[in-house]
Amino acid sequence: MSREDYEIVIGLEVHAELSTKTKIFCNCPTEFGAEPNTHICPVCTAMPGALPVLNEKVVEYAVKAGLATNCEIETFIKKNKKNYFYPDLPKSYQISQFDRPLCKHGYVEIEEEGEKKKIGITRIHIEEDAGKLNHNEFNGESLVDLNRAGVPLIEIVSEPDMRSSSDAENYLRKMKSILEYIEVSDCKMQEGSLRADVNVSVRKKGAKEFGTRTEMKNMNSFRSIVRAIDYEAQRQIEVLEDGGKIDQETLRWDDVSGRTFSMRDKEDAQDYRYFPEPDLVAIRLSEEYIQTIKESLPELPESRKERYLTQYKLSQKDAKMLTNSKYMSDLFEQALEICKNAKAVANWLLSDVSRILNEKEMEPDQIPFTAEQLAKMIELIDKGTISSAIGKKVLEELFENPKDPEEIVKEKGWIQISDEGAIKEVVMKILENNPQSIVDYKAGKDRALGFLVGQAMKETKGKANPQMLNKMFLEELNK
Ligand code: ADP
Ligand code: ZN
Ligand code: MG
Repeated sequence: MSREDYEIVIGLEVHAELSTKTKIFCNCPTEFGAEPNTHICPVCTAMPGALPVLNEKVVEYAVKAGLATNCEIETFIKKNKKNYFYPDLPKSYQISQFDRPLCKHGYVEIEEEGEKKKIGITRIHIEEDAGKLNHNEFNGESLVDLNRAGVPLIEIVSEPDMRSSSDAENYLRKMKSILEYIEVSDCKMQEGSLRADVNVSVRKKGAKEFGTRTEMKNMNSFRSIVRAIDYEAQRQIEVLEDGGKIDQETLRWDDVSGRTFSMRDKEDAQDYRYFPEPDLVAIRLSEEYIQTIKESLPELPESRKERYLTQYKLSQKDAKMLTNSKYMSDLFEQALEICKNAKAVANWLLSDVSRILNEKEMEPDQIPFTAEQLAKMIELIDKGTISSAIGKKVLEELFENPKDPEEIVKEKGWIQISDEGAIKEVVMKILENNPQSIVDYKAGKDRALGFLVGQAMKETKGKANPQMLNKMFLEELNK
């Protein structure tokens, strides 16, 4: 049997840090990147006698996330203690939710090559993050930083509905985009504010039962998730083909060697000895409360995409790519307030801007220039002040040293030559230097014209107006 005879089954547990100003049970700031152990207090460091108080915003954000992913909202909030021992967890239990998660039975829709598919959400619950261990490579010590302890999280558990690594990537991208749109998490994967535990199993095609799953913890890049799933599925298939069986275990993905390593046996719910947290009272949410949040939900990626199709006549693909990132599509809409050419703005964002982002390994929210600057650059092209070839150079400059494009163009002397006399001068010079091209053109080789225009562009460092060049070359050649 080969790989084609197996089906891959994937379920994701996504952890998103909520962007509330303060932690879940105390007033410490949640801000990332502070000096170790400066955002701490008796509550989040678990001093004896310190009592937690639930941050109301956390409930609001979690309800938002549930509503945006089509979940039912539980109106009765109860917290549990999840017991385990680890040096980054000073209380030796995590406050989480067990039998009554805040949200359940939702779904999000993903799309691949025009085909839509629903991925079920089993549950979303509220919990707190743990601290962080900083390992010192030189002397083997580990230092504990508790700034992250008590940062609010939601855990979004999917149904095992994904069937390929690209399903998993699409799902996670969709989830990230929804959370960004509703502004409950900044979803910065490089800072760990969005991370996923990836559960993978395989089974023979047509089999009714799922295979045994393994789980890879805390993955925080799309690329490694895709690689890890493909590797792990292949590994499981080989084990089964060799007559072996899959152990249910927790694995660690190693990006450098490109393989998974066994970490520990998988723990069960009973290992955590869940019990109700007696220091927090249960809360009942009113229907009005949930309704108010529902009404406050902003436009979500899916409906924004539909709007772009009709309002700006964009293609499905372009509309999807633009609206995937809230930041990108906000930039698009802001630019349109200045420059009305929607097609051009979309093209610039999806081709050259996206290419540069890719090369620089940057995310859209790291774009250094403003929508106004982008719009002005496009206007300069539309007005004929610069050619689109120069536009590309202006864009590179906007990434390096963002300022008013008009100023950039002036400083660099990039203004397009549209003066007839100047264009004529160039045309005559190029014709004089390329007598063979004239002969070729007259012999019916149309390519010669393109060559001459190219030479003229080179001569003027891309500044000559290409339409005028074309026209004038034709006039001269046909004389
Ligand atoms: P735990 O915390 O023990 O990992 P959860 O119920 O929180 O358990 O999460 C289990 C995750 O594993 C879910 O996302 C679920 O879809 C996924 N899953 C369950 N069974 C399988 C399976 N056989 N193959 C792949 N994924 C699975
Ligand atoms: Zn604190
Ligand atoms: Mg798990």
